[in-house]
Amino acid sequence: MWLLTLIACASAVGIHFWWRKQFSALQGQRAAEIETSQRRRQQTNVDAKAQQQVLFNSMIEGLLLLDRTQKIYLANRAFKNLFGLKIELRGKTILEALRLHELDELVKRVQAEGQVFDYELKLPDLSERWLRVNASVISNSAGEREGTILVFHDLTRLKQLERTREEFVANVSHELRTPLSLIKGYVETLLDGARNNPEVAERFLKIIERNTNRLDLLIQDLLTISALESGRMKLNLQPVELRPLVEKVFTDLGAKSENKKVRLVNELPELTASADVNRLDQVLANLVDNAIKYGRANGSVKVGGKKLDDGKLEIFVQDDGPGIPPEALDRVFERFYRADKARSRDQGGTGLGLSIVKHIVQAHGGEVWAKSEPGKDATFFFTLLAAANSVTG
Ligand code: ADP
Repeated sequence: MWLLTLIACASAVGIHFWWRKQFSALQGQRAAEIETSQRRRQQTNVDAKAQQQVLFNSMIEGLLLLDRTQKIYLANRAFKNLFGLKIELRGKTILEALRLHELDELVKRVQAEGQVFDYELKLPDLSERWLRVNASVISNSAGEREGTILVFHDLTRLKQLERTREEFVANVSHELRTPLSLIKGYVETLLDGARNNPEVAERFLKIIERNTNRLDLLIQDLLTISALESGRMKLNLQPVELRPLVEKVFTDLGAKSENKKVRLVNELPELTASADVNRLDQVLANLVDNAIKYGRANGSVKVGGKKLDDGKLEIFVQDDGPGIPPEALDRVFERFYRADKARSRDQGGTGLGLSIVKHIVQAHGGEVWAKSEPGKDATFFFTLLAAANSVTG
């Protein structure tokens, strides 16, 4: 009997220890599972945050998140770039981080109105930058405010284009109005009786003719610029021998150069460019025409060029006139810019010639620039691609 009791006790103790072992193994397994799932959740959180960061930083728009106390919770890379900030912004107020009262006021307005769209903010720096801001409060599912989101879009380029367009329209109107009002005035004077004096009538009619020609030139130039800028003008690229083309341009401008007793010199070696011959003719004609117009009477205009090491061709047109002041050297390529207004108008210039030259050269993949020693000369350079298998100059 005592033996049976002993066996039963031993079995009970054995079962107890086996069960404890099983139980602690189970417990260990459970704890490991909990730990793994916690670690996985933490990792998922870290991954989500990293993904969020990558996403926010890849945005073109600047993004600013404020917490419910209006302190910065997150500012993406574009936001920092827009405002030129390198410091850590988290935890700062808008005024502390940016010292921008207008933006601070905007945030207050967003709190009051819930959202503000298309707010235009001009940054108070020297470079005149504009931003468009869209902002809204963020609420949770219970309707409680969690913070504020602000999205910043850089409008500077758009504003610049808008201003250029406005200036262009104002310039065009002015340029059209000047000859038109002259034509109108002289026609009225003729009708009022001046036509009865043949000498006066002829003088007035010549003025009318000159101004009609000027209007015609201006409209042609405007149409060319518009076609070039809209990309409607397609280039018909072919091998073009430069020397004969320059000879043709000299012949076309022969009367003008003879009037002013300007000697035209073609110094070009044999070079063949890959170009649209009509457009290249326009470039050379504009540059040679300017050189005659603004150059010295009894002076000379030279056209020359060479093949560069990178295989491109560099062509120049040089006169020995009064030249261009250094501050105007880049600006002469702008539409309607004139270094000497009275002189340009006297000569019937539209103020668009060099802008057309620049567009055409750039459309060919080249560059154009000017150099001048005031009082001595002015030289315009441009580059073109050489035609394949062209002869080296
Ligand atoms: P414009 O019709 O007035 O000649 P352009 O665009 O051809 O217009 O030239 C712009 C300005 O550049 C001219 O008004 C003139 O002041 C200056 N310019 C151009 N070529 C020369 C040159 N060879 N020498 C001096 N000034 C020049």
